[in-house]
Amino acid sequence: MMNFEHNISILGSTGSIGTQTLEVARAYKGIRVHALSAYSNIDLLEKQTREFNPRLVCVFDEKKAEEFKIRVADTDVKVVSGRDGLIEAAVCPGADTVVTAVVGISGLLPTIEAIKAGKNIALANKETLVTGGHIVTRLARENNVKLLPVDSEHSAIFQSLQGNPKKIKKILLTASGGPFFGKTREELKSITPEQALKHPNWDMGAKVTIDSSTLVNKGLEVIEAKWLFDVDIDKIEVLVHRQSVLHSAVMYEDNAVIAQLGVPDMKLPIQYALTYPDRLPMQGNELDFTKYPELTFAKPDTETFYALELAKKAGREGGILPTVFNGSDEAAVELFLKGKIGYLDIADSIADAMDRVKNIENPSVEEILEADKFAREAVYSRS
Ligand code: NDP
Ligand code: MG
Repeated sequence: MMNFEHNISILGSTGSIGTQTLEVARAYKGIRVHALSAYSNIDLLEKQTREFNPRLVCVFDEKKAEEFKIRVADTDVKVVSGRDGLIEAAVCPGADTVVTAVVGISGLLPTIEAIKAGKNIALANKETLVTGGHIVTRLARENNVKLLPVDSEHSAIFQSLQGNPKKIKKILLTASGGPFFGKTREELKSITPEQALKHPNWDMGAKVTIDSSTLVNKGLEVIEAKWLFDVDIDKIEVLVHRQSVLHSAVMYEDNAVIAQLGVPDMKLPIQYALTYPDRLPMQGNELDFTKYPELTFAKPDTETFYALELAKKAGREGGILPTVFNGSDEAAVELFLKGKIGYLDIADSIADAMDRVKNIENPSVEEILEADKFAREAVYSRS
């Protein structure tokens, strides 16, 4: 029997991954929550605070943090805010694992600090590895901490690697194809935010849902896989698999393919990251193969969804290019959701920003943050 004392902190506890992490914690009393954080959703954060009794809560937005302090004045929770507050949550004493479930590059600094403080990382925030993979993986090695994937595909790959020598021929990274699979560029021109926010298989935050529809998310995941599993970009093959049942696979040098399958439910990868190497019982849907008489696989349409190729280029060239890929996408998605640019402008904005930047090898954290700013400004100046 393993020891089920798990002490965690959650960055982004009010989001899709954050709330599902708390569902896992609710089901297993052995998981103790030390810190929570949100950007501004203090209604939900207050409920979470009262239920899970953390010692520290960060409300990123400073005004909301003041309001939150008053609301929880009857408890002994410490309330902090802003970038420093998020870092305080990341290094909160007592937690041995930090679940990084904030969106975008905002996850980079707190993750770096958590690693320096010796915390294992249950990594949902893929943007951290995309922008700072060279720094984060080095720090993880130096501080002897684990990077445990929460992203379902990477969890599947991680699970498929257990007990095998690392003789990887290639990684088969599956993609649902999103809501616009099979559509032409002409048909995509007039896509609205409402249409793009409807994902066929997964219920996720807005940014990752839009990224799934453009295949930017898959591009980010290719770069994430490169860092997590130390494989070349060209050994990572993206396969469109509409049913999201086979969550990804590893092909070994002897051509054996080991995959992990299950119903689409993020609670499994979250729970596995928290309890690795153990497996705990999971409530909820188990996979019934007879409900999926056909599992289909196809190559992605990288002419229509060409952001995937841009990501691979960024991943191959490295430096600040992946940060520019990500930062320009973050800005473009924000503008698209506000109705300020069209759907196809998202990939075009990324391509433009990547064309305009001069790459820097082995960038520092400061250079990464500057490249992010450059990329955002490049996108804002187009619209
Ligand atoms: P959500 O948008 O649902 O949640 C984001 C969380 O982070 C919320 O708690 C939000 O607070 C907080 N937050 C947002 N922006 C900031 C900021 N600038 N600073 C501090 N806190 C912030 O996102 P998801 O849960 O969908 O995604 C989280 C991460 O996990 C992303 O990197 C995503 O790519 C990755 N991921 C998500 C999957 C999913 O199924 N959702 C699957 C695989 C990966 P508030 O609620 O107050 O706005
Ligand atoms: Mg994923």
